Amino acid sequence: MKKPSNKQIATIIAEIADILEMRDEMIFKIRAYQRAAREIEEYPQRIADIDDIKKLQEIPGIGEGIAGKIIEISETGTCEYYEQLKKSIPVDITTLNSLEGLGPKKIKRLYDELGIQTLQDLEKAIREKKIQKLEGFREKTEQNLLKSIESFKKHKGRFRIDEALHYAEAVVENLKKHPTTIRVELAGSLRRRKETIGDADILISSKDPEASMDAFTKLPEIARVLGKGKTKATIEFANGFQADLRIIDDKTFGAALQYFTGDKSHNIKVRKIAIDKKFKLNEYGLFNKSKKFIAGKTEEEIYTKLGMQIPPAEIRRDTGEIEAALNNKLPKLIDVNDIKGDLQMHTTMSDGLNSAEEMAKMGAKLGYEYIAITEHNTEGLEVAGGVSSREIPEYINKLKSSKADKLKCQILAGLEINIAKDGKLTVPDKYLKMLDFVLVAVHSHFRMSKNEMTKRILTTFENPYVHAFAHPTGRLLLRRDPYEFDFEAICKKAKEKNILLELNAHPERLDLDGESAKMAKEIGCKFTLGTDSHSTTQMENMKYGVYMARRGWLEKKDVINTLDYQDLKNYLAKRYLR
Ligand SMILES: [Zn+2]
Repeated sequence: MKKPSNKQIATIIAEIADILEMRDEMIFKIRAYQRAAREIEEYPQRIADIDDIKKLQEIPGIGEGIAGKIIEISETGTCEYYEQLKKSIPVDITTLNSLEGLGPKKIKRLYDELGIQTLQDLEKAIREKKIQKLEGFREKTEQNLLKSIESFKKHKGRFRIDEALHYAEAVVENLKKHPTTIRVELAGSLRRRKETIGDADILISSKDPEASMDAFTKLPEIARVLGKGKTKATIEFANGFQADLRIIDDKTFGAALQYFTGDKSHNIKVRKIAIDKKFKLNEYGLFNKSKKFIAGKTEEEIYTKLGMQIPPAEIRRDTGEIEAALNNKLPKLIDVNDIKGDLQMHTTMSDGLNSAEEMAKMGAKLGYEYIAITEHNTEGLEVAGGVSSREIPEYINKLKSSKADKLKCQILAGLEINIAKDGKLTVPDKYLKMLDFVLVAVHSHFRMSKNEMTKRILTTFENPYVHAFAHPTGRLLLRRDPYEFDFEAICKKAKEKNILLELNAHPERLDLDGESAKMAKEIGCKFTLGTDSHSTTQMENMKYGVYMARRGWLEKKDVINTLDYQDLKNYLAKRYLR
């Protein structure tokens, strides 16, 4: 048996927590499994390779009991305790729990009261209007669940970019090391850094194609081989994600890379430009009138022959990049190295795993000049921990006294405030004034009419102490669609009032997406990038936010946390004077 990945082990541990919650067991026990699951998923090395129970217990959050279960899972793929628990409540928790609006407690009630075990059972009960009859459920609950089911079905077979890249980059790294490999590259939507991915396209040129195919289909992370021919093979990873490998002649590698990177609309237009210049472009190269091969070893060669700059893969969508490339006007897109700080994160003061000091140390390690700790405000929002208005002075003191100067990475005292239903802020101005960085966001009452939601958000923008609007659309990738609001109106007001729009880099959000960021930029908005981290390891997610920023044509000057510390402080302080 192949050793399970950290993600697979974490999934089982998290599911144990869910079942314990369904069984109404002690809260500390449930939390212990939840925390362990997060630590396992984020652990930088492969947990299954650690077979010493003492060593496992050195990982924060892993006690002797859970360590034993990890070893059992590593060796057998499951553990006795989990199997027993599952038998006690025979429900498809993985699926039901992934539905927005359902948690372990509700799943348990649906099982107890209606015998619902599967997604099909749930759909049937909704059709028969049985759920609205349960105490505490309403007709609206039913409609919302139906929406969740639709969204679940729509997203089936798609994967978040972080998960997809994790597997695909491992394949590329592995093949790069293989002695027969000449070139190997990611193509397709993964190279374009789309936020969700269907499957991975990998291209390789090789001195020995057969050996490359063998190497590919025998990679350690693979669950099964779905097909293997002379020039193409398909494999599947344990989580169901698939990857295609195509063998390409090295002389035409650039042409294939251009062709398989796409997207379709970009390729159609580029081929048309080729035709206009009396060329022909396909996946085998660029050819002249007499069918002679004139370019194709590299992408650069092809675009140059067509009289264009080379559009970065992230913006190949035919939304202006071709015209810009023809006129030598492509933007110089932001790069992850331009980022000088991270402007959204949480700590042990609320639901995070690490202290502010630990986060700052990680910031320094990532080369940042500053980070903003942006705890949730407790008023009007149910959240573990968090900071109430009256606690703000003490909160700021605590952050400022955490030996920040010794940490090389400055700590900005920030707050993430829920926008109340009527758009009012729950924190009085006299407290807002004391903070370095104030984020506002929608965390409740998602289902309002478009007009109401727009008005609600616009109202907050009138407050002179608000700096930024966090995760603006509220989407959770593959789980929750954005709420309805007038995005254009929000952008215009944000520009007028100098409110920054956040590009939330958490791979579960990636909010704004590239298309929205581009639109906002064209209106004249400025942006902030934050990882919304709940642990030090999540701070490395900044790159995903940068991918979205690049997809949105953003440049260094569009993003506030490319400023150095003093300039940023000045920028944020000026807010009150506007
Ligand atoms: Zn938030």
